Amino acid sequence: METVLLKGKPVADNICASIVGEIERLKADSVEPCLAIVRVGQKPDDIYYESGATKRMQSVGIKVKSVVLDAEVSQSELEDAVSALSNDASVHGILLLMPLPRHIDEKRIKSLICPEKDIDGLTDGSMVGLYAGTGEGFAPCTPSAVMELLDFNCIDVCGKNVVIVGRSLVVGKPQAMLMLEKNATVTVCHSKTKDLKSVCRGADILVAAVGRARMINKDHVKNGAVVVDVGINQDENGAMCGDVDTESVMGIASKVTPVPGGVGSITTSVLAKHVVEAAKRITR
Ligand code: NAP
Repeated sequence: METVLLKGKPVADNICASIVGEIERLKADSVEPCLAIVRVGQKPDDIYYESGATKRMQSVGIKVKSVVLDAEVSQSELEDAVSALSNDASVHGILLLMPLPRHIDEKRIKSLICPEKDIDGLTDGSMVGLYAGTGEGFAPCTPSAVMELLDFNCIDVCGKNVVIVGRSLVVGKPQAMLMLEKNATVTVCHSKTKDLKSVCRGADILVAAVGRARMINKDHVKNGAVVVDVGINQDENGAMCGDVDTESVMGIASKVTPVPGGVGSITTSVLAKHVVEAAKRITR
């Protein structure tokens, strides 16, 4: 079987093209969509993500307000900064780069982001929205990017067996909810799952969000399955790789997402889409 690579770029481009007109309409109504990015310290991963997100926002005409605080910032200073953004009517989305330093009470900081501006689905309000379908807040960008990728490639999840490896609050669990919403039959695996390979082989669509370099291989994939690799890891040579051993599943999977160039390249476009949606909601 020939395995098709599902690349992220066309998906990202399509999302951006779909929001440019909406951004123009908002601006015509005197609403300039604005994303605030809060970074604490100088971690290279955070700076890299901030830079990518900023470029993406600017490319579609979304304003970026960058708030950079010292790694030694106090709890109260950070609380004040996040509260100020929540109360700032010119800011429509708040992206808090995480994890925060250990001395910070992360849960408390997240709770200060108002759900209307929680474009990466961090707050309890967004989780209620996702899990109870109340429409409050937003789903996290990465699992949303997976849904965009499947949708763009006309892969219908309705009635399919979807197996998700990983149950974190940022990827695995919200992914399960988004798949359920689209009527998939969902299994969520984790480190205590027995006979992971055989559970994964039951998947029509396998989503790997494990955080272990190339752990998922041909033994986990049934013939013709779609494999979505959410992982971002470094291999033993320091090169970026996913949770899937892509070479190993070639010829078995019908489709697989590459790393880099797959799901990760869609997330900032989803972020932009969420900022636009947040800005639109305030005008309704
Ligand atoms: P995480 O919080 O570390 O969660 C990993 C999950 O994998 C946990 O649920 C864990 O199970 C499970 N797991 C670990 N080892 C396992 C094993 N041997 N067998 C079965 N399950 C196992 O990671 P995360 O934040 O969800 O991120 C997952 C991956 O996605 C990482 O590579 C991360 O870098 C990447 N990521 C990518 C993006 C993107 O934009 N593409 C965004 C966020 C994250 P337990 O719950 O039992 O511990």
